[in-house]
Order: sequence, then structure tokens, then C-alpha cells
Amino acid sequence: MNEVRQFRKVLVANRGEIAIRIFRACTELNIRTVAIYSEEDSVSLHRFKADEAYLVGKGKGPVEAYLDIDGILEIAKRHDVDAIHPGYGFLSENAEFARRCEEEGIAFIGPKPEHIQMFGDKVKARQMAIEAGIPVVPGTEQPIEHLQDAIFFAKEHGYPIMVKAALGGGGRGMRIVHNQEELAEAIERARSEARLAFGHPEVYIEKYLEKPKHIEVQVLADKYGHAVHLFERDCSVQRRHQKVVEVAPALTLSERLKNQIYDAALKLMKKANYVNAGTVEFLVTPDENFYFIEVNPRIQVEHTISELITGIDIVQAQIRIAEGYALDSEEIGIFSQDAIEKKGYAIQCRITTEDPEKGFLPDTGRIVAYRSASGFGVRLDAGNGFAGSEITPYYDSLIVKVSTYANTFDQAAKKMLRTLREFRIRGVKTNILFLENLVQNPAFLKGDYDTSFIDAHPELFI
Ligand code: ADP
Repeated sequence: MNEVRQFRKVLVANRGEIAIRIFRACTELNIRTVAIYSEEDSVSLHRFKADEAYLVGKGKGPVEAYLDIDGILEIAKRHDVDAIHPGYGFLSENAEFARRCEEEGIAFIGPKPEHIQMFGDKVKARQMAIEAGIPVVPGTEQPIEHLQDAIFFAKEHGYPIMVKAALGGGGRGMRIVHNQEELAEAIERARSEARLAFGHPEVYIEKYLEKPKHIEVQVLADKYGHAVHLFERDCSVQRRHQKVVEVAPALTLSERLKNQIYDAALKLMKKANYVNAGTVEFLVTPDENFYFIEVNPRIQVEHTISELITGIDIVQAQIRIAEGYALDSEEIGIFSQDAIEKKGYAIQCRITTEDPEKGFLPDTGRIVAYRSASGFGVRLDAGNGFAGSEITPYYDSLIVKVSTYANTFDQAAKKMLRTLREFRIRGVKTNILFLENLVQNPAFLKGDYDTSFIDAHPELFI
């Protein structure tokens, strides 16, 4: 029954820090690594961090190159690749890509195509959660077809409500609506944003929850039906519904509530027969009610902090699971839920080229000086953080992810402040000062924050 196929060579269909993160995981497992790079990325670091590197999507464009399914599969076949890791973004949530990999006999390091399909559609994911008996944010059962459906929902549940793209992600295609006058236009705008960004205009409606915390549970599941959680991450520090700073474990939730949330996450993933790493996301209201919002069927940017508090290498676990190992095999070593120990606190900050003084507009240009921090309890996951690196406008503005780890939250925050202060990045604007303000903020240090935190604290921008 235990069908295992060990990988000798893995291609990473991604770029930047996550590509390098995955190469490192492979190398430690004695797996040869293959990078792909676009023409625009010909001097990007990830290209040089793999054992082999090949140009993909010539003439197609900077982003399109990493979406070139035929081109990527051709490289994989030509160079005897056993498996492809999609990272996050790009093709990571493209069910067609996962299916094509399968057809070509190349393992996809992620869930099955049907999971990607189902969880990529938030309306279907909500239905699954409802069937599993998990509380969801009150919302429409289907994408809305007529304005009248939305008006009807608002009459029943009251304003504010949120219009959300069914196939959305990255905080896009989302609009808060405070009254009926705003409704028609908000739906239209969300639709056109969704069509442009995701190629699907469908939107649905959720009740807008006031001041919730964003709490997510990291899950690992093998193909033999075992699933475990690696506790939660608090990702409430957000700007425009996108995460900026993440913390594990959450500071202020009761153990009872946390256990309920873990149970709900595992119940959903088991019901879906989910395989590989995935994250179940919830909103938690001040009265300690929790509501499912979505599943991310892939590795996430903030996985580092769960690794720090549990000691489990999530990317290596993903690879081993895709090879066919069971969670409780010697190779993965997760013998039971109770055997997963949680220790200390971890914080992750995303250093980006976003300029807080200019409304977080991403800056571009050459990094002329780069001195990074280090020391006990500091982990850096950098993509193009080095002197001479060219930050182009084509890709996301992340330079380096900084994660700190310590026995107490306070120590982890102090370590983060020290680390941020030690950084010197010249040539492009960064958000470092903003992050320094954030990790010293008294409300942040008490865990007394929700998704409205950044908007409610203009002093962070000074
Ligand atoms: P995406 O897939 O774009 O990340 P999510 O559904 O995960 O979208 O939501 C992202 C963020 O948007 C949440 O963390 C939260 O801050 C906010 N949000 C989403 N739905 C609601 C809601 N119903 N009420 C309040 N805030 C919400």
C-alpha cells in the first residue's frame, strides 16, 4: 500500500525567495534542483541557486513566462525532472497545471487538481465547510446574478456587507459596502476587477465582520488519510486585506477557542480528502466566534513562523508527502498530533520596496548597498536582496522575509526591532521604518490588534 517514489530532480516553477527556499529544502534531501527564469530574471538570484537553470517563456513577458505551462513541462521532460514545486502565486493554484503534470508523469508537489479547483472557488469552499458543519461568515450560497439578490441579502443581514470575487486572491476583487446606494457600483467594480485579475467575474456577498482577527491553521495531510495541524498564525496585521506581519502562535485567543479552530480546520481537510500542505483561514470576532473564510491549497509566504515554533520543515514535508511517504514514516517523522511540540514565539515581517510615504507604491531600481542582519533567532528568506540587485517593476516588491524566534513574544519583537535596525538597504525605498514602528507599538506587543490595526494607527507611518 505504501507506494513511494523518491525524487531525484525537482523543478521549481517560481522565482525569488520561495524558489530559493524550496531549492534549500531539496538540497538537504539530496534532490537535484532545477530553476526556470524569465528573460527579465536573467540575473536574478534564484537562477544561480539551483543546480541547473533554464530560460522559460522567451518573448512572452515577465509574468507570462512563469505561467507558460507548455514551456515549463517541456523543460521538465527534457531534463528528466521527477516533480515540480509551484511555490505560491503564479501556477500554484492552477488546477490545469497540476493535471498536466500528472498526465506527463511528473509529480506535482501540492494537493490534487480537484482540491485546487474546489478551494480556488470560495463559494464552493464555503459549501464544503457548511457540509462539514463548520461556521462560515453569513453569505450568499451562490455568486450573485442580479442586484436584487444582494439587496435581499443586505436586508436580511444588514450593512456593512462585503462583495468578494469567488475566484479571488491577494486581497483583490473585494469591496466593503455600507449602504444600498453604494451597492450597484461596488458590485460592478468588484466584477470588473475580478475579470481583469482572475479571468472570472463572479462575485458573492458576505456579511462584513467588524474588527476581526485573521487566524489561520497550517495543515499537513498525507495520501493515507492522516492529517495534522501545526497550530495557528495570527495574520491580522494587514494593509488592503493583504498580510504585512504575521505572528505564531496567536497571543490573545483562549486555548479552548484555539482547539475548536484546529478541530474545524482538520475536519474540513479530512472531509475534502486533502493531501499535502494547506492552510485553513478563519476570521475571529471580538466575542470569540470564528468563521471559515477560505483554504489556501499551497505553501504560504508566512509558513516560516510555523516552522520556527514547531521545528518542522513544511517544504520538506510537502516533498516527502508528494513522494508518497506517510506522515508517521521515519522520513517525515510526524508520528501523531500530540508529538508535535509548540515552543516559543515567532514573528515574520516582509521587507518590501513599498514606500510608506507614497501610499506604499512599490519603488524600483538598483540596490546599491545591502547589509543584512543576522544573529541568534533570526531567519532570513531573501530573493533579490543583495548589492547590485535590480528591482524591476514586473514582480512583487518583496526583498526579504525576516522571521525572528524567541521564548517569549516580547523577546521575539525586540529581536525583530534589533534585526530591522541592523539592515541597511540603499538605492530603493523600503518599508523598514514602518515595520520598526509596528513592532514597537504597545497594542501590537499586547496582541491587542485586529485587521483594522494599520488603518487605525496613522502614527505607524511617521
Ligand atoms: P484573499 O483570498 O484575497 O486573501 P480572503 O477571503 O482570504 O481573501 O480575505 C482576505 C482578508 O480580507 C481577510 O484576512 C480579512 O481581513 C478581509 N475579509 C475577508 N472577508 C471578510 C469579511 N467577511 N469581513 C471582514 N473582513 C473580511
